[in-house]
Amino acid sequence: MSRFAYVNGRYLPFRDARVHVEDRGYQFADSIYEVCEVRGGRLIDERRHLERLQRSLKEICISMPMSVRALGIILREVVSRNRIGYGIVYMQITRGVARRDHAFPSPLTLPSVVVTARLLNMSRNEALAERGIAVVSVADDRWSRVDIKTTGLLPNVLARQHAIEQGARDAWFIDKEGMVTEASSANAWIVTSDGVLVTRHADRAILRGITRTVVFEVIKAKSLSVEERPFTLEEAYGAREAFITSASQIVLPVIRIDGRTVGDGKPGPVAMELRREFHRYAEAG
Ligand code: PLP
Repeated sequence: MSRFAYVNGRYLPFRDARVHVEDRGYQFADSIYEVCEVRGGRLIDERRHLERLQRSLKEICISMPMSVRALGIILREVVSRNRIGYGIVYMQITRGVARRDHAFPSPLTLPSVVVTARLLNMSRNEALAERGIAVVSVADDRWSRVDIKTTGLLPNVLARQHAIEQGARDAWFIDKEGMVTEASSANAWIVTSDGVLVTRHADRAILRGITRTVVFEVIKAKSLSVEERPFTLEEAYGAREAFITSASQIVLPVIRIDGRTVGDGKPGPVAMELRREFHRYAEAG
């Protein structure tokens, strides 16, 4: 089946979808992105993702190139042209095309907008969640504003590759104080031996995940105990459960950290319940 992408005002066959060599997204990672889950052809938590997109743009002084409503129409059009029942829709906004120079280009430079979508395999993702994943720890050597969702993801790329080379699926970043910040493209959580859910507070050292936010609503509705605070790797090794959250994987149990078994080495009941309940609390539009 042919794929389509939206590039600066046009819906193009995927193979023809390209940006200019002097696009600042390409030259400097001077750009912001978002990823929404698509389920039953509907966008999950679009409102929150587009709010975060606007916040990220504001933080790096790029103006929103169109209304939220117009962007929503494009997202739906890309989802529908690509016949996505279950998958993801990706959007990226860059500072636009200009002669390569670190300083911002003329304010008349139009931001570039790209939207793509692709299918995910639901049974494969469910099977992965039933098995759980292994993670390894890596030093968090990212910049100090990872709360902004920029495409400057080289440390995340290197961390993920390192994890794969170690036979794991993902990496957990550890800050200079020895605290877990987050995973390479997800938020990190544990359930302590006392049954308390713990995830780092959303400061500038993590991305405030939309999935994380909705999981907090599930936790509240189920009256589970939760603490937003940093936790150490040692605490994670000794946890009853561990998991990660992201738009594409929702809640994914972690069963091994640095080769050590978490809990009984199986996906934990709390993580699996949060995974099952998630879409009752997320917005579908
Ligand atoms: N942290 C990082 C570094 C990410 O890249 C992501 C998602 O891409 C997340 C956390 C989770 O965010 P969300 O739940 O909005 O997908």
